[in-house]
Order: sequence, then C-alpha cells, then structure tokens
Amino acid sequence: MIHTIDLNFQGHSGTIAAFLVETSAGPVLVESGPATTLEALEAGVQKLGFALTDVQHVFLTHIHFDHAGAAWRFAEHGATIHVHPFGQSHLADPEVLWKSAKRVFGDAMEQLWGEMRKISPSQIHACEHEETIRVGETEFTSLHTPGHAKHHIAWQCGDDALFAGDVAGVSLAGGPVQPPCPPPDIDIKAWADSIEYLQECTAETIYLTHFGAISEKESHLAALSECLDDWHHWMAERLDGSEPADLVASFAEYVKSQLRLAGLSGEALGNYEVANPTQMSVYGLARYLNQRSTA
Ligand SMILES: [Zn+2]
Repeated sequence: MIHTIDLNFQGHSGTIAAFLVETSAGPVLVESGPATTLEALEAGVQKLGFALTDVQHVFLTHIHFDHAGAAWRFAEHGATIHVHPFGQSHLADPEVLWKSAKRVFGDAMEQLWGEMRKISPSQIHACEHEETIRVGETEFTSLHTPGHAKHHIAWQCGDDALFAGDVAGVSLAGGPVQPPCPPPDIDIKAWADSIEYLQECTAETIYLTHFGAISEKESHLAALSECLDDWHHWMAERLDGSEPADLVASFAEYVKSQLRLAGLSGEALGNYEVANPTQMSVYGLARYLNQRSTA
C-alpha cells in the first residue's frame, strides 16, 4: 500500500511529496522532504497510524534538500538511509552540499530547507544499480538514473510502482511535465538515456515527488523528453555571449507562457515556480552548455 504525503512546502500544497509504503515489516518512506516540513511529514505519518520512529528505512531518490534534507531525523532513531553511492559522503557530512546550496539560495536557505545534520556512515546504505532491498515482503530496486543529478535513483517498488524522484520531471495537479534543471550536474544526454531506460522498465505507475501518481508512463516520459529538448534549445540559442543572470526573466516568461498555453493560471501556475524554480534551470542549463563548449 502506497500513500502520498503532502508536505505542504512553504504553505503550497501539492508541490513536494514524501511517500509512505506499508510493508509486512512496518512502514518505510521514500523521500524525507526538507527539515522545514518535518512537522507536516510527522502529521502525515501519524494520520496513517504510525510514528516517525516506526520508520526503519528511508529510500532517497537523490540528495537535494527537497528530497533528502530531513533524512538525518530518521537515522537518529536507527533507520537505514538508502542512497546512491555518489550521495553517501554528502549525507555523512552535508557541509559541502550546504555551502553549494547556500551560494544559490543565499539568505533564504534556513527558511526554505532548515537544518541538515550528519548521518552516521554505519546507517547509510549505498545502493548499486539494480540492487534489490527487501523490507518484509516488499522489494525495492535501485535504478541508477542520472540526468537531473548524477546521484539519482529511481526506486522500483514491486512490479508496478516507480518512485522516480526528479528524473521523470515535475507535473503538478495534472499539469504539463517539466524537467527540473538545477546546477551543478544536470546532463541532458544522460537524462535522455535514463528516460529511455525508464520507458523500458516494467513498472508502469510513476510516483513523482513533485507531485503524485502518473499512470500514463509512456506519454508522460515522451512529453518530458520533448520539454527537455525544448528548454535545452531555448538556452543554447541565447547563451552565447549572454550572462545567465540576464536570461532569468525571459526564461521565466517563456515557461509561464508554456503553462498558460496549457490552461494554467493563478496558484496552479505559481506552484510550478515553487516546485521547479525557473532561475535554477537557467543556471543549470547554462552550466551544462558552458562546460560542454569549453570541454
Ligand atoms: Zn526536487
């Protein structure tokens, strides 16, 4: 049984989720959300009849704050945190991660993400590609799926469910799908390969951290692929000779026009900016393109 818990991030419902999976060996979580939404997470877990301390396994899709920021809270009562090998050292000592995020988010860091404490290495399990972890009767298989981040895992749970983190994009309340492209390590080519890999995997129901279940896997991933190409080309055409900062406003306007075309307005449109800030994608795409041009 899979439950979606709305973390009501910064007061915006339907933007960041965590998932509770009931197994015969107790509840587990996929994603922890950031520390700033721990209260909402606890309330969601309690509503399902459990306590935070009942959670002995946390499966992280990647180590960005909106997905993994509160994982330490579970390690403190003995839970095992499952993560990509490239994410392991950052959970054990989040200082580098914190500093690089601080460069991007500045003074808003505390208010957005809150505290990230160290996790004892003995409680971190680094998962190889296609490694399966069994909790009670339920199997979780680690699918390494770089593109959004090099430390990204999509977790297949049982035959049908795929907790796809950010590699399957952002789609809020049935709205269009977008690729979140933050710095530092988005990789368009690797992302395209991961999308193809997920198309071929047997699980058909995608659970997006931003936000919720998607049953039309094939068309969803095809639309993601199209938007990724579109954003990539938009940036490639304008970056030459421009500073990324000068493109932030026009990219935000471009993305808004895409969402308006899809029929979105008001809060629904604003929530996309909360879940997938356009400024992040400008810096991520610019970094990707600049690195390739100097390589
Ligand atoms: Zn995210």
